[in-house]
Amino acid sequence: MIELAPWLQACHKQVQHLKQSKKLSHALLITGADGVGQEYLAKELVKDLMCEKIDQGVACGHCHSCELMAGESHPDYYFLDGEEATIKVDQVRQLINKINQKPQVGNNKVVLITHAQSMNINASNAVLKALEEPADQTYFLLTSSQSTSLMPTIRSRCLLVNVPTPSQMEVESWLQSQPDGEALSALFWLTTQPFRLLSLEKQQKTGIYTSLPEKIKELMQGTTTVESLLTGVSNSNTIDYCNGLAAILHQCLCHSAGRTIHPVLSEVYPLIMQRMGIQALMTRYQALQRLKSDLSKTNLNPVMQLTHELNQW
Ligand SMILES: [Zn+2]
Repeated sequence: MIELAPWLQACHKQVQHLKQSKKLSHALLITGADGVGQEYLAKELVKDLMCEKIDQGVACGHCHSCELMAGESHPDYYFLDGEEATIKVDQVRQLINKINQKPQVGNNKVVLITHAQSMNINASNAVLKALEEPADQTYFLLTSSQSTSLMPTIRSRCLLVNVPTPSQMEVESWLQSQPDGEALSALFWLTTQPFRLLSLEKQQKTGIYTSLPEKIKELMQGTTTVESLLTGVSNSNTIDYCNGLAAILHQCLCHSAGRTIHPVLSEVYPLIMQRMGIQALMTRYQALQRLKSDLSKTNLNPVMQLTHELNQW
């Protein structure tokens, strides 16, 4: 098992302690900035809550429930995720029908809803009703990076667990203990959000980002073309190219205002400034943000749009 990241440990212990002393609320809202790992913490807490050793805070790892959780097949654990799409009322209703029955295996049932800010209004109302009339032996765990966009009536029913944002140094030192941690630290120009970096690695997308600064350098020097820079781009990863390009421009903008630039971009910066100047840089940055938002809404041809954008660099 990967050891829990240091900045998640205090929250983990706090909840384990409440569980052990039988003072844990039946509803928890775990909040934190995007990518700090609140979803990961919540999944660890689910394991603790499902364990049949109810007198201890931490999951034993050996009981039948723990084994079922390890095999991702526990029948009393329900999970909804709003990362990719809105959580709709039918999904919540289905789940609530099930939790009104007795646990099939151990002592507790647990509902985990990650990215809970994606619940639509009807889904939120259905969750609120379940929190107001809690089913026996049932815990609700919600996670959100925008907890203020949840209904205040939901928030007020939950124990709030705030995950702190780790410093860049903490993230760097933790990444060293991960496979490919070094390569991930080299992407700090893109993000210092540790779990976003891990998720890019899991999706095998780090290569796109790692190669981008060098490709932009060559584009600015005129030794490569837009077509060749975009070799490998497809409708499914255009958004990654947009994110990477926007991050490079953002770093350049910050550097022009006096902030230190990531070493990976130190040769790219003067070339971009020479080619565009600050005004055009800002215009291109805004255009990329617009493109990102349009790609999620319309039927534009993503690759063609990105090619058109880069032709203006
Ligand atoms: Zn157990």
